[in-house]
Amino acid sequence: MSDLKLTDSAVVDGAVFASTSFKDHEQVVFCNDAETGLKAIIGIHNTVLGPALGGTRMWNYDNEADAIRDVLRLSRGMTFKASISGLNLGGGKAVIIGDSRKDKTDALMQKFGEYVNSLSGRYITAEDVGITTHDMEMVKLKTDHVTGVPVEMGGSGDPSPVTAYGVFMGMKAAAHYKFGSDNLGGKKVMVQGIGHVGETLVKHLTEAGAEVMINDIHMDRMEEVAAKYQATIHSGDVFDAEFDIYAPCALGATVNPHTIDRLSATVIAGAANNQLADEWRDGATLKEKGILYAPDFLINAGGLINVYSEIAKYDREESLRRTENIYHTTLEIFRKAEVENITTHEAALKIAEARIIQTKAQQN
Ligand code: NAD
Repeated sequence: MSDLKLTDSAVVDGAVFASTSFKDHEQVVFCNDAETGLKAIIGIHNTVLGPALGGTRMWNYDNEADAIRDVLRLSRGMTFKASISGLNLGGGKAVIIGDSRKDKTDALMQKFGEYVNSLSGRYITAEDVGITTHDMEMVKLKTDHVTGVPVEMGGSGDPSPVTAYGVFMGMKAAAHYKFGSDNLGGKKVMVQGIGHVGETLVKHLTEAGAEVMINDIHMDRMEEVAAKYQATIHSGDVFDAEFDIYAPCALGATVNPHTIDRLSATVIAGAANNQLADEWRDGATLKEKGILYAPDFLINAGGLINVYSEIAKYDREESLRRTENIYHTTLEIFRKAEVENITTHEAALKIAEARIIQTKAQQN
């Protein structure tokens, strides 16, 4: 995943504490099992608000340093996502090193479940890139500290459709702020990454009358989604195309100095975690250029809201209602950023951090 190298080029291969992505994480757990071939890393960033909940990603990282960097950045993002969404959860995430299309087995996922169980609930897992509800079913055989398990097993199923709904709400709020109307009819939207979340987002967008362009590394996926929703395939470089709204729904760090200069869109609103390669530098450049950025950890929280509900007693209606509210929270963040003359990312981060600081003060 070469794009991540942009963020942390100084890191020594394998270093954790020395990584610039290491930001006061509470715990990092390395899991290794020769028999199943499992190599995983669980990152627990912060548990002030509650147990660290975050999905597991399976990805064929170029090297271990990329995997470490990814888990550190992703787990930190979860802390702020839970906080700004008003959930009593901390931030955590896991990565499994390997190709999910080739290396994943039920035995490997069960072994991973044993490792999750060994943390006694400090970390609760769910799906992320490369992981399905079936995989969570395998994890569930070994631990109760898992969400996003199939509905037949009493779970809430795949969180992705709820995530996509929240992203759609955040995008509508951004369109309202930038273009004066939240009607996406006729707007050209580029959805990059049409996996679990991206596909449902395409569905919402085409239903809303948007002109949707799709991009993915897998041609079979693009053909399938294009046929289903009448979206246009863009198989070349995303940043060569002209569109109004950019929806990154693949991996992180796609918003960086190399891409911002070439971006035709004036709104960024997507599902991917850690879209800004460098949250301060790239957030500031977007602000300077008048590109409205809907903070990723705010608008992609629908899935987390949904799996959070599974921990107590699952209530889909309530999860959808809370997810719909992302529209209003996003507008509040845009206003705060404008009034305080700060980036939208910083505005969201300030609110998320304030809740954690306040809770910690009450605990002491
Ligand atoms: P997924 O694995 O189902 O889909 C990801 C898609 O992106 C795949 O189709 C893959 O082929 C494509 N992709 C990978 N690299 C690409 C590239 N360079 N260019 C174009 N396409 C590329 O994953 P998902 O669950 O849909 O998650 C998508 C993003 O949203 C991830 O960043 C994830 O962390 C984030 N997210 C997901 C959820 C959720 O509920 N699933 C919640 C919050 C955030």
